[in-house]
Parts: sequence; structure tokens; C-alpha cells
Amino acid sequence: MLEDNLKEVQNRVNEACKRVGRDPSEVTLIAVSKTKPIEDLNQIYNAGTRDFGENKVQELTYKIENMPTDIKWHMIGHLQRNKVKYIVDKVELIHSVDSLRLAEEINNQAKKKGVVVPILIEVNIAQEDSKFGVAENETKELVRQISKLDAVSIKGLMTIAPYVVDSEENREFFHKIKDLSVDIASENIDNVSMDILSMGMSGDFEVAIEEGATMVRVGTGIFGARNYNI
Ligand SMILES: *Cc1c(COP(=O)(O)O)cnc(C)c1O
Repeated sequence: MLEDNLKEVQNRVNEACKRVGRDPSEVTLIAVSKTKPIEDLNQIYNAGTRDFGENKVQELTYKIENMPTDIKWHMIGHLQRNKVKYIVDKVELIHSVDSLRLAEEINNQAKKKGVVVPILIEVNIAQEDSKFGVAENETKELVRQISKLDAVSIKGLMTIAPYVVDSEENREFFHKIKDLSVDIASENIDNVSMDILSMGMSGDFEVAIEEGATMVRVGTGIFGARNYNI
């Protein structure tokens, strides 16, 4: 049963918080439901989850139309500029902003719809060629530039850590991005907060919480393995 998986993950979140003296209410568990059918999402919804993460615009808009309206949808995948218009007023948070051009398009579409869009800056903290995200040493400058756009609001940072067998290997990366967020917060840039740190997935969310994550994005741990061939 998916509810049992959810409970198990929630327990592990709580335990990780306890180990470092954090209150579990500081950590939002996002159920990453990409590739999964509506029936699976409904099970998790009925068990109390209201935060869901998706990485493709078409799948996201389909699920928004076919799921209850009190869900908070998180766009966690790479976002093409020509698709921004389909989601800009429908999501709780866009986690994956890594360029000024993308932020400008979000800003333009947000103005048309009369909304202000909360975003995170995606940082490629481990400098992997295969990953999207801004380089660590260019993050502060990008935050400064995007902060001037008045229909987007920077709420923090997001990262996708490398795939590793031993989650301890990612501790240094989580630590590094936490440091970076504290550093940026200390600059008190107008229209920028660093309240959110979105990091940690099924394989490493406990280490991420120990290092300061406020949002963890868990797919496999809740919904089981994904099949991309259907
Ligand atoms: C798929 C995905 C996740 C969840 O990955 P799991 O290992 O299945 O928990 C988290 N974040 C992003 C950005 C993803 O694309």
C-alpha cells in the first residue's frame, strides 16, 4: 500500500529532524508523482498529502485538471521558456529556475496573469555536466539580477545532488548549498528570501534534512520505482 510507504517516509523525516534537533514542521515532504497514474496520486492525497511534485509541463497540467483543487503543485523539472505560460498561475513554487532568460519569461507571463510567482534558484552544486542549474560561484549574481523582476519572488535554493549509493557522499554538497543560502541571505537583497532549501530525494533525504533541507522531494520512496516505457 502506498499509504504505508508514505508513513514510513514521514517517520524517517521525523527521525532525521529529531537527530539534529529540528521541528518536523520545518520540513515539507513533496510527493514526486511523475509518471504515476492519478489513482496512485489519489491514494497519497487521501492519506493527507497536499504537496506534489512533477517535472513535465504536459503531465503537470493534466494532473492539475484531474486532481482536487487544494493541492500545491511543485514544478521541479527543467522548464522550457515556451511552456512557462501553461503553468505560471497554477503552481505553488517553481524549483528549477537557472537562468535570467527563464526568469524573465516567468516574469512576463506572471504579469499577464496578474500574479507574483514564487521561485527557487537551481544550483548545480556538484558541478555535474549532466545537470541543469547555475554554478555555485554564479548564483549570487543571478539572484541579484532576478531580484529586480517584480512578478517573480525568490524564496530560496534547490539542488539535485549526484546519484550515489552511500548518501553520506552527498553531505558535503548539502552543506555547501546551505552555506551558500546563508551567505546570500546575509546580503538582504530586496525581494529575496532564503527561507526554502529544496534538497534531498529518496536516496538521500535524511542527510539533506540533517544539513538543513526545508523541502525534500521523494518519488520512489513513496510511489515505488518508475517505468518510463509506458
Ligand atoms: C524525480 C525527481 C525526484 C524524486 O526522485 P526519487 O529518487 O524517485 O525520490 C526529486 N527531484 C527531482 C528534481 C526529480 O526530477
